[in-house]
Amino acid sequence: MFTSRFAPSPTGYLHLGHAGSALAVWAAAEAAGGKVLLRLEDIDVTRCRPEYQAGILEDLAWLGLEWPEPVRRQSEHFADYHAVLDDLRGRGLLYRCFRTRKEVLAEIGRAPHGAAIAFTGGPLGADEEAERVGLGEAFAWRLSLARAREALGAAYDALGYEETGGGQAGFVSARPERHGDVVLARKDTPASYHLAVTHDDALQAISHIVRGEDLRESTHIHVLLQALMKWPRPVYHHHRLMTDSAGKRFAKRDKSMTLRAMRRAGMSAADIRVRAGGL
Ligand code: GLU
Repeated sequence: MFTSRFAPSPTGYLHLGHAGSALAVWAAAEAAGGKVLLRLEDIDVTRCRPEYQAGILEDLAWLGLEWPEPVRRQSEHFADYHAVLDDLRGRGLLYRCFRTRKEVLAEIGRAPHGAAIAFTGGPLGADEEAERVGLGEAFAWRLSLARAREALGAAYDALGYEETGGGQAGFVSARPERHGDVVLARKDTPASYHLAVTHDDALQAISHIVRGEDLRESTHIHVLLQALMKWPRPVYHHHRLMTDSAGKRFAKRDKSMTLRAMRRAGMSAADIRVRAGGL
């Protein structure tokens, strides 16, 4: 069964670019005789707001899109994400990282030839770690690429995914090293996007993921997490992003391009479908 999802984060109202993405997801499902689930990715409780959530549901319904209930709201499922973290931690795949974002950036900046390499600091020695935990210092849980590679053995080098999006269609080899040791949890965000999205795609039996090409790089990490957790791998379709007349991507701060602003300005759902369709 072709099952896809549209997974917006309620950190703002939907704009024309989101409409394009949503229409692409529903069109793919319709062509395959499948369905689309709606998921609200609201794990970042500091940035998500209930009025954006309500606005997203309203705008999608106005566009004429339909989805089965209940809608999954990630903020209601932190226990699920904690269970995944416990599992990975129990297998020695995570380590505590006490560096601040600034320190990490400074360290990466010192890489040879200033190359933008990803962070792979590794764990501290047991004594220092125990001391800093004892002092109550803040830390993030990072996924150790070195340990992941060990755990997967030869399968690590064969990691990849099926891409059906234009330009890159075919098997794409995953290169998680581009991301280094990613953060999977920290104090203010108890589950990262990478963790929550891959968990939910597996739980909801998503067979096909249709999303913007701005998330193409993230897929390299998602494939690694799927392999470590023995989750099935969906087929991916990364679509091009819509741009405005100046060639700039739409962003949540472009208030005039939100679907509600366009609706208030007199545009119909059919107008939006013409402007945003065909990605
Ligand atoms: N929640 C993500 C966003 O709003 C999208 C997640 C995904 O499609 O994988 O950008």
